[in-house]
Amino acid sequence: MTAPKLVQGYEVVIGFETHAQLSTQSKIFSRSSVAFGAEPNTQACALDMALPGTLPVMNIGAVERAIEFGLAINAHIAERSVFARKNYFYPDLPKGYQISQFEIPVVQGGEVSFFLEEGKQTVRKTVRLERAHLEEDAGKSLHEDSALGGGGQSGIDLNRAGTPLLEIVTQPDMRSSEEAVAYAKELHKIVTWIGICDGNMQEGSFRCDANVSVRKPGAPLGTRREIKNLNSFKFMQQAIDYEVRWQIDQIEDGHAIQQATVLFNPDTGETRAMRTKEDAADYRYFPDPDLPPLVIGRDWVERVKSEMAELPRVMAERFVKDYALPEYDATQLTQSKAVAAYFETTARVCGQAKLASNWIMGEVTRRLNASEMAIEHAPVSAAQLAALIGRISDSTISNNAARQVFDAMWSEGGEVDALIEAKGLKQMNDTGELEKIIDDVLAAHPKNVEEFKAGNTKALNGLVGPIMKASKGKANPAQVNELLMKKLG
Ligand code: ADP
Ligand code: MG
Repeated sequence: MTAPKLVQGYEVVIGFETHAQLSTQSKIFSRSSVAFGAEPNTQACALDMALPGTLPVMNIGAVERAIEFGLAINAHIAERSVFARKNYFYPDLPKGYQISQFEIPVVQGGEVSFFLEEGKQTVRKTVRLERAHLEEDAGKSLHEDSALGGGGQSGIDLNRAGTPLLEIVTQPDMRSSEEAVAYAKELHKIVTWIGICDGNMQEGSFRCDANVSVRKPGAPLGTRREIKNLNSFKFMQQAIDYEVRWQIDQIEDGHAIQQATVLFNPDTGETRAMRTKEDAADYRYFPDPDLPPLVIGRDWVERVKSEMAELPRVMAERFVKDYALPEYDATQLTQSKAVAAYFETTARVCGQAKLASNWIMGEVTRRLNASEMAIEHAPVSAAQLAALIGRISDSTISNNAARQVFDAMWSEGGEVDALIEAKGLKQMNDTGELEKIIDDVLAAHPKNVEEFKAGNTKALNGLVGPIMKASKGKANPAQVNELLMKKLG
């Protein structure tokens, strides 16, 4: 364990609550569609509107997704969990309560681990999860802006009411904003990889609340404030950094932190208290009499397990074993299924897994990031990259030349061998021709030869340069070295 990073002498403590919208077709307790973007109230049935006489019916698909999540993070799947009513008034909640899980959640424990850059080191971090529970989303309040000429009225859209959510709660294990963002990205990767959530942050399918507190090292946990609804990784980091500075300033000025719920304003970069935080007891939770306990037999868990695709961490372990890759590479290459598939195809075709990994984590990723492109749309296919790597390892071209070929393929397309030919990038592998160049250069630089023989190894540089130049950069540097040593030795 490395010592925790301090900010102005304070240790930062962060715990996350994430609402992942489950990718079912219909709502958690009704048959209405959950498709995004429909006209207000066109996807709200009698149950979603809380009309009398309606009763909730559990959506098996939502339960199955919760089981998949539990399996993906090595958690305990409760054999019996209980739905509870969380009571509060808000116009977008016509029932007057939200159905959630309280004392006995469906997913218990588990962990998420990832790599984090710390200074020059890459370290593995593990965040323990407390629980993940099923619940329904509320509707949305829509406000006409009177300042903009609207009527200044408010309306309620119940399309979102009853959308299935999995709320994923961590222990307060994170110690910096960087670590918090790395956790959120890893969690996002897991839920999208196993396909239980589409991960669309703009549409609100993956919303994070960050609980933040600070303390002097060794002191008990400080009072937290909860930053609500962070829907981009960039804002997440900005919001936490601002919040940490704000809390430290308050404490340094002699003020105590009040537990509160705060909102981040991306325009000002500041967090602002929305309401003082209520405690669980304020919600008067009690078991929902309309829903029986959720019972999940071991056979159900086993069946779900057998139908799940290979998990990212399992795939990463396989990459280490089968392709002799470092753990770091294996983790990077399993960021998404598409990246992993691109790597496996490249590695299988060219037979050079480490080179394939270097190229994908280097050149390919750099260009994808620069153009915000997904690897599925990369203009250089895995087969083309494999062909290029093949030409490096059979000494047809140098690494430098390979980069030129890659550039050309990326921006204009074309095939590896044709491009090498057209650009005249073939390395000179004909020793006779190279020997003649070397002899000429040696004859033209007698002083360097003399110095080298007198023990000045640096004099060699004065010879290699002109040789590479005379070969128009096509000489194989290793071969030049070898021949030079032979001739001078
Ligand atoms: P609630 O549901 O009322 O927000 P919980 O006790 O379930 O409260 O905690 C919610 C989140 O807050 C969890 O992720 C937990 O790790 C985190 N948390 C709890 N105490 C602290 C603290 N002192 N500092 C930072 N995070 C905390
Ligand atoms: Mg909370």
